[in-house]
Amino acid sequence: MKEFEEKVRKTIEDYDLLSKQDKALVACSGGKDSTAVLYLLKKFGFNVEGLFIDLLIGDWSEKNLKNVEKFCKELDIKLHVVNVREVLGGSMCYLRSKISKEEKLKTCTVCGVIKRWLLNKKAQELGVDKLVTGHNLDDQVETMLMNFLKNNVKLNIGQQPKTGVVENKKFVPRIKPLFFCLNSEVRKYSEEMKFPVLYEKCPCSSGVFRREIREELEKLEKEYPGFRENIVKNFLEMLPKFKVDVSEVVYCEKCGEVSRGGLCKFCKLRGSLEMSETFQGKVSERTKKS
Ligand code: SF4
Ligand SMILES: [Zn+2]
Repeated sequence: MKEFEEKVRKTIEDYDLLSKQDKALVACSGGKDSTAVLYLLKKFGFNVEGLFIDLLIGDWSEKNLKNVEKFCKELDIKLHVVNVREVLGGSMCYLRSKISKEEKLKTCTVCGVIKRWLLNKKAQELGVDKLVTGHNLDDQVETMLMNFLKNNVKLNIGQQPKTGVVENKKFVPRIKPLFFCLNSEVRKYSEEMKFPVLYEKCPCSSGVFRREIREELEKLEKEYPGFRENIVKNFLEMLPKFKVDVSEVVYCEKCGEVSRGGLCKFCKLRGSLEMSETFQGKVSERTKKS
């Protein structure tokens, strides 16, 4: 337990992730990773608040929300809840079915774009210095290999303990204090600490490719212990050699957020929903339980 906590503390120090003056917002999903990171940042004495994006995925979302609310209350952490229906007009399942028909996108792709946009927007509104996510080492290796195999290796620049190679006032820096922690280590810590979390997977998960990569990596790890950690460490060593073209950063012509040109991914999805533009303004927090 102590070793695990020290690993997280060392990552924060070595990569200068957070200072005691920073206001940090943890993206809480109700899972073991974000719960562990929320707990540890509070324990280490950082100024931390939580943000739960309620995707309204049936029982699964309800249980997660209850768990996060209970946990934050016990730890005296301020929690913000953004309800996806109040912002976008429907539950994640509804949005996915509407969008997928037009764009042929997988659920997790739609969900990922929406969550990233909402997290960044809410973090800006709350004026926080850092947005914290619970990504662990297994998540990182899987994403790195997926990007590599899909010929998107440039996207791996974002796979660091601190994201934000390009400083931008529209993009709240993201930090990943569990970057060097294995999934199994976080699980063990969470179980020992008896955190109120769900270990079951999201029922809407569509990540077949990710699951296959994970299974292969687990097999390789058994034969070559330390294999996953080596991939991440080697990548971080290679990182300074990547050249980042700052001129690539442009703003979405609709919502004004950072984009790769024209409309951002979120506004493209929004376009396919033919929805009103009420959420161009503030992302209001939940006012009632849906
Ligand atoms: S598994 Fe996919 S659909 Fe479920 S919360 Fe995660 S990204 Fe969203
Ligand atoms: Zn946009």
